[in-house]
Amino acid sequence: MGKRGGGSTKGWAQEPIDALRVGTVGPIADFDPDSTPGFDGDRRLGEELLTERGEILAGLQELLFANGRAGDHRSVLLVLQGMDTAGKGGIVRHVGGLLDPQGLSIKGFGKPTPEELSHDFLWRIRKALPPAGRIGIFDRSHYEDVLPVRVHSLVPQSEWEARYDIINRFEHELVDAGTTVVKCALVVSKDEQKARLAERLDRPDKYWKYNPGDLDERAYWDDYLEAYQAIFDRCDSDATPWYLIPANRKWFSRLAICELLIDALTGLDLDWPAADFDVDAEKKRLAALPD
Ligand code: AMP
Ligand code: MG
Repeated sequence: MGKRGGGSTKGWAQEPIDALRVGTVGPIADFDPDSTPGFDGDRRLGEELLTERGEILAGLQELLFANGRAGDHRSVLLVLQGMDTAGKGGIVRHVGGLLDPQGLSIKGFGKPTPEELSHDFLWRIRKALPPAGRIGIFDRSHYEDVLPVRVHSLVPQSEWEARYDIINRFEHELVDAGTTVVKCALVVSKDEQKARLAERLDRPDKYWKYNPGDLDERAYWDDYLEAYQAIFDRCDSDATPWYLIPANRKWFSRLAICELLIDALTGLDLDWPAADFDVDAEKKRLAALPD
Protein backbone atom coordinates (compact mmCIF):
# COMPACT_ATOMS: atom_id res chain seq x y z
CA MET A 1 0.00 0.00 0.00
CA GLY A 2 1.33 3.46 -0.89
CA LYS A 3 1.79 6.63 1.09
CA ARG A 4 -1.83 7.73 0.70
CA GLY A 5 -3.02 4.70 2.59
CA GLY A 6 -0.93 5.71 5.57
CA GLY A 7 1.85 3.21 4.96
CA SER A 8 0.25 0.02 6.25
CA THR A 9 0.24 -3.20 4.25
CA LYS A 10 -0.72 -5.67 6.96
CA GLY A 11 -3.75 -7.68 6.00
CA TRP A 12 -4.61 -5.70 2.88
CA ALA A 13 -3.85 -7.08 -0.57
CA GLN A 14 -5.35 -4.00 -2.21
CA GLU A 15 -5.83 -0.44 -0.97
CA PRO A 16 -9.25 -0.04 0.65
CA ILE A 17 -9.92 3.10 -1.44
CA ASP A 18 -9.65 0.91 -4.55
CA ALA A 19 -11.07 -2.37 -3.24
CA LEU A 20 -14.22 -0.79 -1.82
CA ARG A 21 -15.02 1.91 -4.38
CA VAL A 22 -18.47 1.41 -5.92
CA GLY A 23 -17.04 1.17 -9.44
CA THR A 24 -14.72 -1.68 -8.40
CA VAL A 25 -17.15 -3.78 -6.39
CA GLY A 26 -19.94 -3.61 -8.96
CA PRO A 27 -23.69 -3.38 -8.56
CA ILE A 28 -25.03 -3.44 -5.03
CA ALA A 29 -27.54 -6.14 -6.02
CA ASP A 30 -24.64 -8.59 -6.59
CA PHE A 31 -22.55 -7.44 -3.63
CA ASP A 32 -21.70 -9.98 -0.93
CA PRO A 33 -22.20 -8.45 2.55
CA ASP A 34 -20.10 -11.29 4.02
CA SER A 35 -17.09 -10.45 1.88
CA THR A 36 -13.99 -8.52 2.96
CA PRO A 37 -12.81 -6.94 -0.33
CA GLY A 38 -9.08 -6.29 -0.44
CA PHE A 39 -8.50 -7.79 3.02
CA ASP A 40 -6.93 -11.20 3.56
CA GLY A 41 -6.99 -11.37 7.33
CA ASP A 42 -9.47 -12.90 9.75
CA ARG A 43 -11.46 -11.34 12.55
CA ARG A 44 -8.59 -11.55 15.01
CA LEU A 45 -6.22 -9.66 12.76
CA GLY A 46 -9.00 -7.20 11.86
CA GLU A 47 -9.66 -6.36 15.49
CA GLU A 48 -5.96 -6.09 16.26
CA LEU A 49 -5.49 -3.77 13.31
CA LEU A 50 -8.41 -1.57 14.28
CA THR A 51 -6.68 -0.78 17.58
CA GLU A 52 -3.36 -0.14 15.85
CA ARG A 53 -4.79 1.89 12.98
CA GLY A 54 -7.13 3.73 15.32
CA GLU A 55 -4.07 5.27 16.95
CA ILE A 56 -2.80 6.44 13.58
CA LEU A 57 -6.22 7.91 12.84
CA ALA A 58 -6.32 9.66 16.21
CA GLY A 59 -2.90 11.18 15.53
CA LEU A 60 -4.08 12.49 12.16
CA GLN A 61 -7.22 13.88 13.77
CA GLU A 62 -5.09 15.82 16.23
CA LEU A 63 -3.08 17.26 13.35
CA LEU A 64 -6.28 18.34 11.62
CA PHE A 65 -7.58 19.91 14.82
CA ALA A 66 -4.29 21.71 15.49
CA ASN A 67 -4.30 23.11 11.96
CA GLY A 68 -7.90 24.20 12.35
CA ARG A 69 -6.88 26.14 15.45
CA ALA A 70 -4.11 27.76 13.42
CA GLY A 71 -6.57 28.99 10.78
CA ASP A 72 -6.66 26.10 8.29
CA HIS A 73 -10.24 25.87 7.03
CA ARG A 74 -10.22 22.22 6.03
CA SER A 75 -12.40 19.43 7.44
CA VAL A 76 -13.45 15.86 6.70
CA LEU A 77 -17.01 14.61 6.33
CA LEU A 78 -17.90 10.93 6.67
CA VAL A 79 -21.36 10.21 5.28
CA LEU A 80 -22.93 6.95 6.53
CA GLN A 81 -25.85 5.37 4.79
CA GLY A 82 -27.29 1.88 5.05
CA MET A 83 -30.46 -0.10 5.64
CA ASP A 84 -31.80 -0.48 9.18
CA THR A 85 -29.48 -2.57 11.38
CA ALA A 86 -26.53 -2.14 8.98
CA GLY A 87 -24.47 -0.75 11.84
CA LYS A 88 -24.29 3.00 11.26
CA GLY A 89 -24.56 3.66 14.98
CA GLY A 90 -21.84 1.08 15.63
CA ILE A 91 -19.49 2.94 13.29
CA VAL A 92 -20.15 6.19 15.15
CA ARG A 93 -19.45 4.42 18.46
CA HIS A 94 -16.52 2.24 17.49
CA VAL A 95 -14.70 4.32 14.87
CA GLY A 96 -15.77 7.70 16.25
CA GLY A 97 -14.90 6.21 19.66
CA LEU A 98 -11.26 5.92 18.64
CA LEU A 99 -11.11 9.70 18.29
CA ASP A 100 -11.05 12.78 20.49
CA PRO A 101 -14.69 13.89 20.97
CA GLN A 102 -13.53 17.52 20.81
CA GLY A 103 -12.51 17.11 17.21
CA LEU A 104 -15.69 15.34 16.14
CA SER A 105 -18.96 16.74 14.91
CA ILE A 106 -21.63 14.03 14.85
CA LYS A 107 -25.13 14.45 13.47
CA GLY A 108 -27.93 11.96 12.85
CA PHE A 109 -30.78 12.71 10.45
CA GLY A 110 -34.23 11.31 11.14
CA LYS A 111 -37.58 12.02 9.54
CA PRO A 112 -37.61 15.73 8.76
CA THR A 113 -39.47 17.94 11.23
CA PRO A 114 -42.19 20.31 9.95
CA GLU A 115 -39.65 23.13 10.19
CA GLU A 116 -37.09 21.19 8.16
CA LEU A 117 -39.72 20.31 5.57
CA SER A 118 -40.52 23.99 5.13
CA HIS A 119 -36.99 24.54 3.78
CA ASP A 120 -35.15 22.93 0.88
CA PHE A 121 -33.75 19.48 1.66
CA LEU A 122 -30.16 20.70 2.06
CA TRP A 123 -31.07 23.28 4.70
CA ARG A 124 -30.65 20.97 7.68
CA ILE A 125 -27.55 19.43 6.10
CA ARG A 126 -25.74 22.76 5.62
CA LYS A 127 -26.38 23.65 9.25
CA ALA A 128 -24.69 20.44 10.39
CA LEU A 129 -21.49 20.59 8.33
CA PRO A 130 -18.26 20.08 10.30
CA PRO A 131 -16.44 23.27 11.30
CA ALA A 132 -12.79 23.80 10.29
CA GLY A 133 -10.45 21.24 11.78
CA ARG A 134 -13.16 18.70 12.59
CA ILE A 135 -14.16 15.29 11.39
CA GLY A 136 -17.91 15.30 10.80
CA ILE A 137 -19.95 12.10 10.83
CA PHE A 138 -23.43 12.05 9.30
CA ASP A 139 -25.59 9.11 10.44
CA ARG A 140 -27.90 9.28 7.39
CA SER A 141 -27.71 12.38 5.27
CA HIS A 142 -29.06 14.31 2.28
CA TYR A 143 -29.16 10.94 0.50
CA GLU A 144 -32.29 10.07 2.50
CA ASP A 145 -33.98 12.58 0.20
CA VAL A 146 -33.40 10.22 -2.73
CA LEU A 147 -33.82 6.97 -0.75
CA PRO A 148 -37.04 6.64 1.30
CA VAL A 149 -38.29 9.73 -0.50
CA ARG A 150 -37.85 8.01 -3.88
CA VAL A 151 -38.98 4.54 -2.74
CA HIS A 152 -42.19 5.91 -1.21
CA SER A 153 -42.75 8.78 -3.66
CA LEU A 154 -42.80 11.29 -0.81
CA VAL A 155 -42.32 14.04 -3.40
CA PRO A 156 -43.14 13.92 -7.14
CA GLN A 157 -40.60 12.08 -9.30
CA SER A 158 -39.56 15.30 -11.07
CA GLU A 159 -38.54 16.67 -7.69
CA TRP A 160 -36.42 13.73 -6.49
CA GLU A 161 -34.96 13.28 -9.97
CA ALA A 162 -33.59 16.83 -9.83
CA ARG A 163 -31.91 16.13 -6.50
CA TYR A 164 -29.03 14.04 -7.87
CA ASP A 165 -27.64 17.06 -9.72
CA ILE A 166 -28.35 19.35 -6.78
CA ILE A 167 -26.46 16.95 -4.50
CA ASN A 168 -23.52 16.79 -6.91
CA ARG A 169 -23.29 20.58 -7.08
CA PHE A 170 -23.55 20.84 -3.31
CA GLU A 171 -20.85 18.26 -2.65
CA HIS A 172 -18.48 19.76 -5.19
CA GLU A 173 -18.94 23.15 -3.55
CA LEU A 174 -18.09 21.52 -0.24
CA VAL A 175 -14.94 19.97 -1.63
CA ASP A 176 -13.91 23.28 -3.20
CA ALA A 177 -14.36 24.91 0.19
CA GLY A 178 -11.93 22.43 1.79
CA THR A 179 -14.05 19.52 3.02
CA THR A 180 -12.91 16.03 2.10
CA VAL A 181 -16.04 13.96 1.57
CA VAL A 182 -16.02 10.19 2.20
CA LYS A 183 -19.31 8.40 1.56
CA CYS A 184 -19.90 4.88 2.86
CA ALA A 185 -22.92 2.67 2.25
CA LEU A 186 -23.05 -0.16 4.77
CA VAL A 187 -24.52 -3.23 3.16
CA VAL A 188 -26.12 -5.89 5.33
CA SER A 189 -27.75 -9.02 3.89
CA LYS A 190 -31.47 -9.62 4.22
CA ASP A 191 -30.83 -12.70 6.42
CA GLU A 192 -28.46 -10.84 8.68
CA GLN A 193 -30.94 -7.97 9.01
CA LYS A 194 -33.60 -10.46 10.10
CA ALA A 195 -31.25 -11.90 12.72
CA ARG A 196 -30.38 -8.42 14.02
CA LEU A 197 -34.04 -7.41 14.20
CA ALA A 198 -34.78 -10.64 16.10
CA GLU A 199 -32.01 -9.81 18.55
CA ARG A 200 -33.52 -6.38 19.11
CA LEU A 201 -36.82 -8.06 19.99
CA ASP A 202 -35.15 -10.59 22.30
CA ARG A 203 -33.15 -8.14 24.35
CA PRO A 204 -34.71 -5.44 26.51
CA ASP A 205 -31.48 -3.45 26.20
CA LYS A 206 -32.09 -3.34 22.44
CA TYR A 207 -35.80 -2.50 22.35
CA TRP A 208 -34.90 1.17 22.01
CA LYS A 209 -33.31 0.44 18.63
CA TYR A 210 -36.37 -1.42 17.35
CA ASN A 211 -38.87 0.43 15.24
CA PRO A 212 -41.93 -1.49 13.99
CA GLY A 213 -41.66 0.56 10.80
CA ASP A 214 -38.35 -1.21 10.01
CA LEU A 215 -40.34 -4.35 9.12
CA ASP A 216 -42.43 -2.37 6.65
CA GLU A 217 -39.30 -0.92 5.07
CA ARG A 218 -37.86 -4.41 4.70
CA ALA A 219 -40.67 -5.20 2.25
CA TYR A 220 -39.16 -2.58 -0.08
CA TRP A 221 -35.69 -4.16 -0.07
CA ASP A 222 -35.31 -4.39 -3.86
CA ASP A 223 -36.61 -0.86 -4.37
CA TYR A 224 -34.00 0.35 -1.91
CA LEU A 225 -31.26 -1.53 -3.78
CA GLU A 226 -32.37 0.23 -6.95
CA ALA A 227 -32.42 3.62 -5.22
CA TYR A 228 -28.93 2.98 -3.82
CA GLN A 229 -27.63 1.96 -7.24
CA ALA A 230 -28.99 5.22 -8.70
CA ILE A 231 -26.98 7.14 -6.11
CA PHE A 232 -23.79 5.27 -6.98
CA ASP A 233 -24.36 5.73 -10.70
CA ARG A 234 -25.06 9.43 -10.41
CA CYS A 235 -23.27 10.76 -7.32
CA ASP A 236 -19.88 9.03 -7.27
CA SER A 237 -16.79 10.91 -8.47
CA ASP A 238 -13.09 10.88 -7.57
CA ALA A 239 -13.65 14.05 -5.54
CA THR A 240 -16.82 12.72 -3.85
CA PRO A 241 -16.36 8.96 -3.79
CA TRP A 242 -18.85 6.32 -2.66
CA TYR A 243 -17.63 3.15 -1.00
CA LEU A 244 -19.59 -0.06 -0.47
CA ILE A 245 -18.89 -1.47 2.96
CA PRO A 246 -19.90 -5.08 3.60
CA ALA A 247 -21.56 -4.96 6.98
CA ASN A 248 -22.36 -8.54 7.99
CA ARG A 249 -19.03 -8.66 9.81
CA LYS A 250 -18.91 -5.64 12.05
CA TRP A 251 -15.17 -5.94 12.68
CA PHE A 252 -14.58 -5.52 8.94
CA SER A 253 -16.85 -2.54 8.39
CA ARG A 254 -15.17 -0.74 11.29
CA LEU A 255 -11.66 -1.46 10.06
CA ALA A 256 -12.55 -0.54 6.47
CA ILE A 257 -14.00 2.85 7.45
CA CYS A 258 -11.06 3.54 9.74
CA GLU A 259 -8.75 2.95 6.75
CA LEU A 260 -10.83 5.20 4.47
CA LEU A 261 -10.63 8.00 7.04
CA ILE A 262 -6.87 7.51 7.41
CA ASP A 263 -6.58 7.84 3.65
CA ALA A 264 -8.69 11.00 3.58
CA LEU A 265 -6.64 12.64 6.33
CA THR A 266 -3.30 11.52 4.90
CA GLY A 267 -4.35 13.14 1.62
CA LEU A 268 -4.48 16.51 3.40
CA ASP A 269 -0.70 16.29 3.86
CA LEU A 270 -0.82 17.96 7.24
CA ASP A 271 2.09 19.09 9.36
CA TRP A 272 2.16 20.55 12.85
CA PRO A 273 1.43 24.27 12.61
CA ALA A 274 4.45 26.49 13.18
CA ALA A 275 4.56 28.44 16.44
CA ASP A 276 3.10 31.94 16.15
CA PHE A 277 5.44 33.11 18.91
CA ASP A 278 9.22 33.20 19.34
CA VAL A 279 10.01 29.77 20.82
CA ASP A 280 13.53 30.69 22.00
CA ALA A 281 12.37 33.91 23.60
CA GLU A 282 9.58 32.04 25.42
CA LYS A 283 12.07 29.40 26.66
CA LYS A 284 14.27 32.15 28.08
CA ARG A 285 11.32 33.84 29.76
CA LEU A 286 10.22 30.54 31.29
CA ALA A 287 13.75 29.71 32.49
CA ALA A 288 14.01 33.12 34.14
CA LEU A 289 10.88 32.53 36.22
CA PRO A 290 11.33 31.52 39.86
CA ASP A 291 10.66 27.75 40.50
P1 AMP B 1 -32.98 5.94 12.65
O1 AMP B 1 -31.76 6.18 11.82
O2 AMP B 1 -33.14 4.51 13.06
O3 AMP B 1 -33.09 6.90 13.79
O4 AMP B 1 -34.25 6.22 11.70
C1 AMP B 1 -34.45 7.45 11.10
C2 AMP B 1 -35.60 7.32 10.12
O5 AMP B 1 -35.79 8.57 9.50
C3 AMP B 1 -35.35 6.31 9.02
O6 AMP B 1 -36.49 5.54 8.81
C4 AMP B 1 -35.06 7.20 7.83
O7 AMP B 1 -35.33 6.61 6.59
C5 AMP B 1 -35.94 8.39 8.11
N1 AMP B 1 -35.49 9.58 7.39
C6 AMP B 1 -34.34 10.26 7.53
N2 AMP B 1 -34.28 11.30 6.68
C7 AMP B 1 -35.41 11.27 5.96
C8 AMP B 1 -35.93 12.09 4.92
N3 AMP B 1 -35.25 13.14 4.45
N4 AMP B 1 -37.14 11.78 4.43
C9 AMP B 1 -37.84 10.72 4.90
N5 AMP B 1 -37.40 9.90 5.89
C10 AMP B 1 -36.21 10.18 6.41
MG1 MG C 1 -33.62 2.57 13.06
